[in-house]
Amino acid sequence: MTTRTTTGDAVAAARPDPLGYLGAEIQALREQSLYRPLVVMSGRQAPRTTMDGRPVISLSSNNYLGLATHPRLVRSALDAVRDLGVGSGAVRTIAGTMELHEELERRLASFKHTEATLVFQSGFTANSGVIPTITTERDLIVSDALNHASIIDGVRLAKTARAVFPHKDVEGLETVLRDARDKGGPKGAYEHILVITDGVFSMDGDIAPLRDICDVADRYEAAVMVDDAHASGVLGRNGRGTIDHFDLHGRVDIQVGTLSKAMGVLGGYVAGRQHLRDFLVQRARPFLFSTSHPPAVAAACLAAIDVLEQEPERIERLWENTRFFKAGLEGLGFDTGISETPITPVIVGQAETAQRMSRSLFERGVFATSVVFPTVALDKARLRTIVSSEHSREELQICLDAFAEVGRELRVI
Ligand SMILES: *Cc1c(COP(=O)(O)O)cnc(C)c1O
Repeated sequence: MTTRTTTGDAVAAARPDPLGYLGAEIQALREQSLYRPLVVMSGRQAPRTTMDGRPVISLSSNNYLGLATHPRLVRSALDAVRDLGVGSGAVRTIAGTMELHEELERRLASFKHTEATLVFQSGFTANSGVIPTITTERDLIVSDALNHASIIDGVRLAKTARAVFPHKDVEGLETVLRDARDKGGPKGAYEHILVITDGVFSMDGDIAPLRDICDVADRYEAAVMVDDAHASGVLGRNGRGTIDHFDLHGRVDIQVGTLSKAMGVLGGYVAGRQHLRDFLVQRARPFLFSTSHPPAVAAACLAAIDVLEQEPERIERLWENTRFFKAGLEGLGFDTGISETPITPVIVGQAETAQRMSRSLFERGVFATSVVFPTVALDKARLRTIVSSEHSREELQICLDAFAEVGRELRVI
């Protein structure tokens, strides 16, 4: 047995730090106003909460419908913990598939009107898992320029050729597809083509032109994949997503949804045909090599679907609040970009302005985080706001008043 004779500090002094360059990187980020400290919440994820010790009205969560604290979800989770424990104890493909996991997948499939679904640990792993799993080096992936990071990572993990089309530019997409058909790739004609788009784009809150994308993809026999993370629980009947919103059932081959945003819990899923699910079960690496959700997560997600089906008024309130808040910001003269959903950016330009604005709002009890490069372009720094169904009119008005004061102070309006 060895005894410790040196303290950690003494070890640190004796040995040069091979990761010392990270400190310099952090310093550089601070100097460019790009460093983002973590803000710590005390208490619950609710419109009124406490961030870094200060009571605030929060405009920054993805808890669109208040389901993160909904009593029905909480009760279901507690029941599952009491009956089944806190962990699943294995990956799905070994001994970690519980009845609740499969029940959730059946419920999601019927909710989404697809043959089958497969749940992943998160929306991120759903995207980064499905894309490399279903493509090979003889295929082509065509992706919208503003797709989510988890799609980008999924594409990076794939061995396919790849092309990016300008944001929401269906003609640009068609040009890529026509070139692919006419010229093929280094290995000859592509075997399969996969077109990928977000349903709702997470930084601008705009909606993909899905019908046109499906039409173009059909002409080139390309598969279509839609990441509906910000549309799940928000768009379509009872929050079924953009495919339902545009009435495109049966025309989108792969739908990715998240259980972590409006659904209020954690997880992601892939919805589509039975053979898609079956293949992912055999091959998708996050599914094969990472432990399944605790039963409480699956139980709470099941309750979330019940709530979407039985309390559609939450979604109506979400949209009423969205219209009120957006009109308020626009009335004050803010640039809210091209948003069509509850995600409303307040675009200010420079990162430093965005961070100062966020700090000033915080001092006035309004929590709206800044989003800066590399999440958005260098000159498109913004505050990103998301209202929920649970904000009261009074709370939203307090936020608008604070935005007005701070916006004038910083000469943004
Ligand atoms: C949030 C988000 C994800 C990731 O979902 P998680 O369940 O939080 O991992 C994927 N895609 C988009 C477009 C998102 O906004």
